[in-house]
Amino acid sequence: MTAPLRLRIDLDALAANWRWFARMSASARTGAAVKADGYGLGAREVVGRLAEEGCRDFFFTTYDEIAAFGAVPDGLTFYALHGFRDGDGLRAGVVPILNTAAQVARWREVAPDLRCDVKVDTGMNRLGFGWKDFDPSILGGLQLGTLHSHLACADDVDDPLNEAQLGRFRALVAQVGPPAASLASSGGICLGGDYHFDLTRPGLGLYGGIPNAAAAGHVRPVVSVQAQILQVRDMEVGDSAGYGATWTAQRRTRLATVNIGYADGYLRGFSVPGPAKGGSASAGGETFPVAGRVSMDMTIFDIGAADLGEGDWLDMTYDLPTASAQSGLSQYELLTGLGHRYQRDYA
Ligand SMILES: *Cc1c(COP(=O)(O)O)cnc(C)c1O
Repeated sequence: MTAPLRLRIDLDALAANWRWFARMSASARTGAAVKADGYGLGAREVVGRLAEEGCRDFFFTTYDEIAAFGAVPDGLTFYALHGFRDGDGLRAGVVPILNTAAQVARWREVAPDLRCDVKVDTGMNRLGFGWKDFDPSILGGLQLGTLHSHLACADDVDDPLNEAQLGRFRALVAQVGPPAASLASSGGICLGGDYHFDLTRPGLGLYGGIPNAAAAGHVRPVVSVQAQILQVRDMEVGDSAGYGATWTAQRRTRLATVNIGYADGYLRGFSVPGPAKGGSASAGGETFPVAGRVSMDMTIFDIGAADLGEGDWLDMTYDLPTASAQSGLSQYELLTGLGHRYQRDYA
């Protein structure tokens, strides 16, 4: 039995991307964000391959997510970005990144002698102690490892908030004097050496996403998606297709119905007409646009006169920046939304 849709995950490209971000990070240690099951590509495979490359620091969201992964392999550190929740149990090899006074109090009660990290929010206003009123005395008696913060606008190399956050973080590091500091995700790494500190936390770029203009041309695609044709039909001028009959043939053409839909993460933003440019797929060097609305399990493509039939495969256009422009979805959503029905081939 084989699935009618395939995900190819190029672990060599993943490794090459990590090495590029590690080179860019220069003397800083380079970790990897593997939350949300390795951005949907499989945390186990991603951690396994990047550990071979020398990566030692892996960022997950919760203890729960780490528990689902299993034991932390020897020599690696898994970080819980969301900190230490009520009900979380200690796990060997796991360092929580504490974000609130309640998390610090909880940690102090459970494991005052074990290393913990702390995050200060320097202007994103999402997670972490507020930088304006941060009182370092709250860390008294803790075994602080790394002080973290996170950039809100690293996808735009020119956004002035980057420098503002950098300045605030530098002041905090000077004030707290932690053993190590960490600010940059994929986009932050590309902003230059000032942003690297001691440890970097790339995610998107490892998986083939382009975090900002400075990374374009350096990141290799990791994911490719193929889906099989279920049925082909001839269309006359004026025939419509799909839910809502939103697409109408302007010429005689052929439509191929393909085994992929929004339940597979091929969301309705790829529809034609739709909210953005609309999706496409290719075979034999030709590219075909989506016709009509993407539905749950199927998408229709206008294949013109191409010699394709039931059982043939289409290569979905899933280069992340292109697919993002086609669908209006972020590159992150395109990765993490991939469903569970794919046959996954790791190469
Ligand atoms: C997700 C995340 C990262 C990785 O970000 P990318 O943009 O995917 O490189 C790094 N740090 C934190 C705190 C995150 O939440």
